[in-house]
Amino acid sequence: MKRLFEFLFPICFHEYEIENKQEVFPYNPFEGMSPTVLAVIEKSILQKYKNPIGTQYTLKCKKCGKMKTYYEEVKYSK
Ligand SMILES: [Zn+2]
Repeated sequence: MKRLFEFLFPICFHEYEIENKQEVFPYNPFEGMSPTVLAVIEKSILQKYKNPIGTQYTLKCKKCGKMKTYYEEVKYSK
């Protein structure tokens, strides 16, 4: 019955599962600077760029293999 349905209606009701998950970091203007320079910059400022701003998920449909990406923003409570 299910097969017939899929034959008559060749649409995939996507069932996504997480294929890959990657943390997204903000652009760090201090990256690549020498440790000497970094030493004089306040730790709290540098720390700001070390926290991920979001997570990017790559999702893949279990049935047809269609892929899509999903971005989730991190919300920090202050
Ligand atoms: Zn699908």
